[in-house]
Amino acid sequence: MKILSIGAHQDDNEFRVGGMAYKWIQAGHEVRFLSMCNGNGGHHFMTPEETSARRARESAAVAEFAGLHYDIWSDVDDCTLMADLELRYRTIRYIRDFAPDLLICHRTNDYHADHRASAQLVQDASYILTVPHTCPDTPHMEQMPVIMYNEDRFKYPPFEGSFVMSIDDVIEEKLHMAHLNESQIYEWLAYNGHGIYTVENDEKVRREWLLGMDLNKEYTDDEINALTNGYAVRFAKTAARFRNELIAKYGEEAGSKVRFAEAFMLSEYGEQPSEEFIKTLFGDDL
Ligand SMILES: [Zn+2]
Repeated sequence: MKILSIGAHQDDNEFRVGGMAYKWIQAGHEVRFLSMCNGNGGHHFMTPEETSARRARESAAVAEFAGLHYDIWSDVDDCTLMADLELRYRTIRYIRDFAPDLLICHRTNDYHADHRASAQLVQDASYILTVPHTCPDTPHMEQMPVIMYNEDRFKYPPFEGSFVMSIDDVIEEKLHMAHLNESQIYEWLAYNGHGIYTVENDEKVRREWLLGMDLNKEYTDDEINALTNGYAVRFAKTAARFRNELIAKYGEEAGSKVRFAEAFMLSEYGEQPSEEFIKTLFGDDL
């Protein structure tokens, strides 16, 4: 199957879909990431030009490591993405060109203007993917892809975990994809969220920063929820948040032991998934 993850920014794809993307590729599926912005906004000591060039190199490293194809709309600056007609047509053409079975994107209720615009562009494109007279230069799709939202924590309306998957078996690969986003993980997000100019360039210090938790220790969900730092902690919190869904999926014993998870919410605006589709991309054996 073909899976397309569209994020406003590069790390939106890796951070929210990276674990499952890695698994799908290992299972023989084709995965493509698109960043609708060029990443030039998120940094505090590099120029915008230096930032977008470095972000592109980091994305290329992620693509090579995971075995996926990574596109970036290099002419769209961060914090300028608009759900206008020009970009709607570009989105329609882009999606048709790849013709994914599954399309993953942001929700339209989100704190970041780029995330909202990106979500709106996908939503505006979704039905028109099948309409021949719009963008007739690109062959229309015969049916819409299944559309799912990557996980967010916004409450109005709440995010539903329609498909919640353990990523315990690929957590090191997912952490490595984050590690490759060096300018974000150890620089920009450390500065922007925590007031740390740069996390010291020392293997042990950076590993601890990346984890934010001790992988050899067993935590309760309450203990995980009380942690405040760390990239691994984010996905431990996803497992804690959707514990009931994980138990429903994997059974009481295995579900209660899942440490790291990714969650996806099914959109009403795309094709609805068949049992076969669910078994292939969200089955128990993945
Ligand atoms: Zn983003």
